[in-house]
Amino acid sequence: MSLTEFDIIAQYFTRPSSQASVDKSIGDDCAILTLNSNKRLVMSMDTMVEGRHFPESAEAFDIATRALCTSLSDLAAMGAKPLWFTLGLTLPSVDHDWLANFSRGLFSIADQFAVDLIGGDTTQGPLTITIQVHGEIDAGAGLMRSQAKVGDAIYVTGHLGDGAAALELLLSGSVAGKEVTADVDHYLRQRFYSPLPQITTGMQVAALANAAIDISDGLVADVEHIAKASGVQMMIHLEQLPIAPCLQTYDESRYFAWALSGGDDYQLLFTADKTQQQSIDAFIAKGTISATKIGEVCENGDKTHQGNGVILTLNGLPYEQSLYKGYQHFAS
Ligand code: ADP
Ligand code: MG
Repeated sequence: MSLTEFDIIAQYFTRPSSQASVDKSIGDDCAILTLNSNKRLVMSMDTMVEGRHFPESAEAFDIATRALCTSLSDLAAMGAKPLWFTLGLTLPSVDHDWLANFSRGLFSIADQFAVDLIGGDTTQGPLTITIQVHGEIDAGAGLMRSQAKVGDAIYVTGHLGDGAAALELLLSGSVAGKEVTADVDHYLRQRFYSPLPQITTGMQVAALANAAIDISDGLVADVEHIAKASGVQMMIHLEQLPIAPCLQTYDESRYFAWALSGGDDYQLLFTADKTQQQSIDAFIAKGTISATKIGEVCENGDKTHQGNGVILTLNGLPYEQSLYKGYQHFAS
């Protein structure tokens, strides 16, 4: 790899910076960046390993878009504006077609979210992509998991369950044992490989919401993180969950399972108190935010409740966690 490492970087990953904040980009020992003095720097790193985070059959373009989208999703969850990213790329061999497609995919998302690649590392080994994203927030404006307050409403962007249904499709060629139409196939693949990060919504609600998280592990697991960090209980009303029309053609228990425990949705979940709800609801009504109210934050007084901080109801009745936790994914 070392012989061609510099050629790879020059050919596939070096572009002029689009931002004045980049004093020195790829090509020296470090990048040099100008920080905006009244902002705070936010960063996050994610690693994707072939066969674990994406199927071995995945195209290079799709691997790149998924890697950058899912990394940027963490910035969205903090209400941050993306600025720069670095790329750790481990490749089994040098394949120019693969690199050209990977680079195209990577920069298609980088351009869309105005984030500059400012450095990285290139090594040989099993296909692994590590991305560190950097963004900025106003001082004190970060959307922390620990700040949900009793009485807050819980909102979620977009649709839930797409990621899990898409993974079934990618691994088995069908969804719940049924073949899907070309439109649904396209929709689900897009949702898996380009789960566009909710950056705009994150920045819009940064000053309005109390707490936020991006949904990567499944609604219940991620809501539990907020409940635990904030010392509250989160009540979710399943009949209010936003489920894509193409998933509503399946059994209710199945699409609830996808939404509740499937993961890979990369939607933004946030909580907001009464006064801010009015502004958020007005944005939703105007169409500037695409989000749905799915529940509310309650006092953590019920010590008998398994201690997991999440209460699920369906049409006013308790919904048993065993109904989806024991659910067999990928079984038809
Ligand atoms: P060093 O030996 O000083 O760590 P490298 O040879 O690893 O430098 O990298 C040379 C330059 O290329 C550095 O600026 C580094 O940030 C950049 N770089 C290396 N790999 C990548 C990559 N996959 N994507 C973007 N930039 C990279
Ligand atoms: Mg290096």
